[in-house]
Amino acid sequence: MPDLAPGVSLELARQRAGVLSAVAYRLELAIPEALDNEIQGSVLISFELADAGAPLQIDFRAPPTAVRAVTVNGDEATYRFESEHIVIPADALARGRNEIAIDFVAGDAALNRNPGYLYTLFVPDRARTAFPVFDQPDLKATFELTLSVPAEWRVLANAPVESVIDSGTTRVHRFQRTERISPYLFAFVAGEFEAITREVGGRTMTMLHRETDAAKVERNVEAIFALHASAIDFHESYTGIEYPFQKLDFALIPAFQYGGMEHVGAIFYRASGLLLEAAPSQVELLQRARTIAHETAHMWFGDLVTMRWFDDVWLKEVFANFMAAKAVNPSFPDIDHELAFLADHYPTAYSVDRTAGANAIRQPLANLAEAGQLYGPIIYNKAPIMMRELETLVGEERFRDALREYLARFAFGNASWPELIDILDRRTDSDLRAWSEVWVDTPGRPEFELAPAPAAGEPPAVVQRDPAGLGRVWPQTLSFLVARDGEIRRVSASSDAAETPLAGIGIVAGDTVLMNADGRGYGAFPARVSDLALWDSLADVEQAALLVNLYESLLAAGVNPREMFLALENIASREANQLVLAIALDQTRRIFWTLLSGDDRESAAARVEETLWRAMIENPEGGAKRLYFWALDDIALTPTGVLRMHAVWSRELAIEGLGLSEEDDIALARTLAIKLPERANEIVAAQLARTANPDNRRRLEFIAPSLSPDEAVRDAFFASLADEENRAVEPWVLEALGSLHHPLRVAHAEQYLRPSLDLVEEIRVTGDIFFPERWLRVSFANHHSAAAVRVVQDFLDARPDYDARLRAKILQAADPMIRANALLAVVE
Ligand SMILES: [Zn+2]
Repeated sequence: MPDLAPGVSLELARQRAGVLSAVAYRLELAIPEALDNEIQGSVLISFELADAGAPLQIDFRAPPTAVRAVTVNGDEATYRFESEHIVIPADALARGRNEIAIDFVAGDAALNRNPGYLYTLFVPDRARTAFPVFDQPDLKATFELTLSVPAEWRVLANAPVESVIDSGTTRVHRFQRTERISPYLFAFVAGEFEAITREVGGRTMTMLHRETDAAKVERNVEAIFALHASAIDFHESYTGIEYPFQKLDFALIPAFQYGGMEHVGAIFYRASGLLLEAAPSQVELLQRARTIAHETAHMWFGDLVTMRWFDDVWLKEVFANFMAAKAVNPSFPDIDHELAFLADHYPTAYSVDRTAGANAIRQPLANLAEAGQLYGPIIYNKAPIMMRELETLVGEERFRDALREYLARFAFGNASWPELIDILDRRTDSDLRAWSEVWVDTPGRPEFELAPAPAAGEPPAVVQRDPAGLGRVWPQTLSFLVARDGEIRRVSASSDAAETPLAGIGIVAGDTVLMNADGRGYGAFPARVSDLALWDSLADVEQAALLVNLYESLLAAGVNPREMFLALENIASREANQLVLAIALDQTRRIFWTLLSGDDRESAAARVEETLWRAMIENPEGGAKRLYFWALDDIALTPTGVLRMHAVWSRELAIEGLGLSEEDDIALARTLAIKLPERANEIVAAQLARTANPDNRRRLEFIAPSLSPDEAVRDAFFASLADEENRAVEPWVLEALGSLHHPLRVAHAEQYLRPSLDLVEEIRVTGDIFFPERWLRVSFANHHSAAAVRVVQDFLDARPDYDARLRAKILQAADPMIRANALLAVVE
């Protein structure tokens, strides 16, 4: 038997995968209405055992008293319960079929118990906090679930309901047996929900939700069902495999930790991502379609074929994003999808890959307990860029055929990245293993430069530099836009060496050249503010690419922030494409708060407020109005600007074509409380009084102290976050943390940085997968002082043996702050 140790080690997982097969769970849970009453459970685990010569470890991360009784093959067993495992002695086990029955108290950690509802979230290894289980992705099993819940509650799980039995105040729901699925994909939700069932394209789907605004549900519900149906159709036709599970339902959960989670047959979403406000922007509509297509794609990529171990978690994410991008195209014929892909992936991927803490796409993982740290922008944003490069390299059709072979061969089983690369490698002449080593197995991005022609009459060259000094080359095809005497040409050339002469494409000294003009290339590309003179000659995607390249140059100290800010303001005042506008406004906001000096910000504020306000009023499109409005909510700084936003919030001033929901009002109240401290208490109280939705009320009550003008109240609130219980609803915590660290409050909030770093190790254990990273990012995003930078440096310097992955996360999160500090020092 592998050493007994907390978590699920790779060694334990390998040992169990070697001896166990045909695993099946019969799980019963009795869920009381009262939050503080424990959840009693029993599980019957049956399996084939190839070798009964060693004890068997069952994962269960719970206190010692949580195990009530254990029987093995009908006999009471002398088990041990330590280091998060129930250990069954070898002499109780038999070669062949075994049955282990366990009575237990379910841990609350992954059950997300709220007043009136609860839901599971077991990814990556948290099923083992709720019930005894072999919690590793390659021990797929069938689950038969029985839930006993308060009679008026609704339930949803992976499989259809088989029977319902009423017994007074409780109701017992028995679900059918699932297909063979990984434990992290097992799920259920129960509580006071509304259910809506629709038949779309021959499929019946049910949606659970808790939204109290009937009009909001009404205006979204048809689109939500239609998007699911069209996503399924697309994935079926691309993969050549029919939807592989018994049914597909979904639940909209308030303050859900992620945008969505792809539980087999029962997707959970964050409600606000699907129930859009009136007049949503194209960006929001596209984002919603992407989210639905992403989670739906997982039914094939991740659920049908699953990674063997979480080191390949990126693979299911990249395919979900990759497929989502393909799937939404038919639903958005008016959107430039090259542009949407660029906007969705590159800036966020660079936000990690430009930092000293950049991580590779594929990372080794010794214990599942650390799997949460693998998640982040590299998986979600860089990997799809890499996958698109790979598709280009292999060819679209051959690539699709390889995926079909991969899915068919490993259906209801597990596979790893090398197994896919093998399938792809057989279909191409390129050396995909070497290619994969640079793109997948190592971190970072190349830095590009256009080297001047060595002599008259000779072409300039593209130089590709490896910032890590390892001499790596990221082979790619780059596009160039060449301007000469008012004439514009577009050419492309491959860059597959450290230096590639641009022979034969007619670039000469004196030409204005935009490198990576179409934005497909990956790396840092030099750009100048003067390049914006070409703006009106550029296609939308070229405009976006130029903005992204400029922003990267800005952060590398190659562009002056004041000049860039002025240029962005000009673009924002007249840009018609909402995706380009969204990039421009996002950069405007970031530069305004973190890269302009205090004096520059003061003197720019009135002008930029007027520019954006006028653009909002004059723009006829509701989506564009929303983009301007939320940019104004963020940057309004002058008394006139802030009071105008107050008038909108209090309904003294209406903006034609812009509807505001309860969530919008809460967001407005939040910023206003920070910007009008003398009226903060009154604003929060008024917002609370007019908030009807009970989930929204709880949220507002939670974040209220973070909005207080009283520093002592904020300090006490921050201190309360040290207690795990107060971090239970993570999106609320992040929202409150954002208020504590608002740009107008960074001087006071500096004292929170060090305790926030101290907490990270604990948060890594107690929080859900994205939480440690987001905790760090929100904490550091708006700081720029030398003292704040020193907090991070001192913290890391004092801990040379600190966990490498956490160190990387800290360096990633602190990067904007470190760059802002350097840039402000240069400008001043
Ligand atoms: Zn996903």
